[in-house]
Amino acid sequence: MILHIDMDAFFASVEQRDNPNLKYKPVIISGNSKRSVVATASYEARRFGIGSAMPVFQAKQLCDHLEIVPGNREKYQAESKKIMEIISHFSPLIEQVSIDEAYLDITGCERLFGSFKDIALSIKNQIFQQLDLTCSIGMSPIKFLSKIASDLNKPDGLTIIEQSDVKNFIFSLPIQKVPGIGKSSMNNMQLLQIKTLGDVQKYSLPILTQKFGKMGQRLLELSNGIDKSRVEINYIRKSISSETTLLKDINNFKKAKNIILDRAQIVGRTLRKKDLVCENVFIKLKFSDFSQITRSRKLASPICSSSAIFNEALFLYKRFKLKKKIRLIGVGVTALKNKNTPVQMLLIQDPAKNKKQWESVDFAVDSISEKFGTFIINKASLTKTD
Ligand SMILES: [Mg+2]
Repeated sequence: MILHIDMDAFFASVEQRDNPNLKYKPVIISGNSKRSVVATASYEARRFGIGSAMPVFQAKQLCDHLEIVPGNREKYQAESKKIMEIISHFSPLIEQVSIDEAYLDITGCERLFGSFKDIALSIKNQIFQQLDLTCSIGMSPIKFLSKIASDLNKPDGLTIIEQSDVKNFIFSLPIQKVPGIGKSSMNNMQLLQIKTLGDVQKYSLPILTQKFGKMGQRLLELSNGIDKSRVEINYIRKSISSETTLLKDINNFKKAKNIILDRAQIVGRTLRKKDLVCENVFIKLKFSDFSQITRSRKLASPICSSSAIFNEALFLYKRFKLKKKIRLIGVGVTALKNKNTPVQMLLIQDPAKNKKQWESVDFAVDSISEKFGTFIINKASLTKTD
């Protein structure tokens, strides 16, 4: 079961929540220059025919008492984070598709949280209780249908398409509701008298490919209830990281290596203190021109020793072709798991005996640092200067 969540008039709702003077009023979020367009319109503004991407001057013509609020990207980003954090408690399989939209694979989650409908209602409820914002949710066994479903009963909607309803739903779904159908393909749809997604089945693949290119095949698949796209996990809930801005920009491998070691030790220590292991290591580099990169690596088995984190981070660093001087280095871990899970313990016993020895060294170092302070004991290579 795939759930699609979409916040209702997100930017406008956040502003209306934070400023009581804007409540129940036609509000748009946008820049205030002559060429600005509407980023989001409140539902009150939509009643005047105002919508996203409309030039502001046109919106003003449609509604003379329109409230124009400049957007605050950082504020919306912070709210977005809170929303993702809330939904991440229901399933770790999250694909965030925009600042206010995400897919969630909730297959199998009903044992923990009740029926699929219960899950959707709890999500809506928690977001409303904690953030005073409403969202619309669509659910179906097929990804593209979930997105269509979330749009059907906005605002504050909940639409569930059960497996048994999928066929009928597709059969009567207006073709323009299918994601990816633009104005140009609509002309061809009219020509072929395709009004609903079900009508696509009247045509063979060669004809559909001829008329719609690559989209032809996808349309035929969708009309048969086949959607090969899955929830691509791109939201990772927890991470531990440590970074440092250097006193002077560097391009010296030895120096960078020492900093990576230093950061890896800090990250490893935090990880072990929380009794966690990680399955993903990343490095972050910021350069003298302020551009930055992040590179991450999924591990075959969970780790928590500083030296293992260091090795992975160094591997990522070495693979990167350095062209500019570095001003910041960060090391971090994600895909965190509890170390005490029995299955995890088995996995941690890596055949590499080296690893286990390093882990015991780590724990010894941790307890000494705990007693005498963080900097009393360190790797020998860190104390060398070059
Ligand atoms: Mg939205």
